[in-house]
Amino acid sequence: MAKKKSKIQTPDWILKGGEDEKPKKKKGKTFKVRRCPECNSDDVGVVIGEIGLWECRKCKWKGTKVNEEELDEDEFMKYLDDKGEDVA
Ligand SMILES: [Zn+2]
Repeated sequence: MAKKKSKIQTPDWILKGGEDEKPKKKKGKTFKVRRCPECNSDDVGVVIGEIGLWECRKCKWKGTKVNEEELDEDEFMKYLDDKGEDVA
């Protein structure tokens, strides 16, 4: 019986532990978060019936310019954590 030589070997770089391999931060999905310029609450929404008008449900601010923040997935998860509430 001829024993077949396995061609599958563990490559050297794996044996070394792959220390050179750094987790590259991928520029993937980003999430936009809007915040009230007055109280920095994210509880802002568009005013129904008004185009481009925003209001803050916390401090009742109204205006057209909300602060926008762009978060990547990690930051967004953290942001949700900080909020500590379920997202509808
Ligand atoms: Zn506000």
